[in-house]
Amino acid sequence: MSDNHHDESEHEGIQLDIELSLPARRALAIHELLVEKGIIGQDEIRERAELFRSRSPSDGAKVVAKAWTDPAFRQLLLDDARAAVYELGYTLTHDAELAVVENTDDLHHLVVCTLCSCYPTSLLGPPPDWYKSFAYRQRAVVGPRSVMREFGLELNEDMQVRVVDSTADLRYLVLPRRPAGTDGMSEEELASLVTRDSMIGVSEALSPQVASRA
Ligand code: FE
Repeated sequence: MSDNHHDESEHEGIQLDIELSLPARRALAIHELLVEKGIIGQDEIRERAELFRSRSPSDGAKVVAKAWTDPAFRQLLLDDARAAVYELGYTLTHDAELAVVENTDDLHHLVVCTLCSCYPTSLLGPPPDWYKSFAYRQRAVVGPRSVMREFGLELNEDMQVRVVDSTADLRYLVLPRRPAGTDGMSEEELASLVTRDSMIGVSEALSPQVASRA
């Protein structure tokens, strides 16, 4: 470790003075213990955190827009998502496998992690707070349609809904349906219609009319 290295805990004058939740305190304790035991370095944790924060839903949106415009890429994305995103220059920042599930006119996918908050951070960045909430994790399974309704998505009764459960080993990303009226749009224009929520499945991609009003 270099001489100019400063651990966050070394600043005596500036101490953490906000109340942390129990899970946050537990995570911090585990973090400190792993560093103290030499299992993981402080720098390694920082690098991972920076990489994690450098990704955002606009990365996932580019992948979706590419799949909408390139049938071969779409097929590869559904068959071997890791290989497909690698082709676009993305690497998975987590060890977990990535699976892309496609929404169609008959089948709608909704992603949840019932156990904790597993999420395709490599393509979407950190998950929103509601995704981590106990209410979402429970209600997404028990009543997915009512959850989607709260996000403004009312699905037809004949649409089949499939809830997929992300885990530490396998994380899901939804390939939303391409909105109507988007023929002839460029990949970049299409990507602007792809929201984070549409890649979780709580809503659909924006229509060009809605997007132009936003
Ligand atoms: Fe999880």
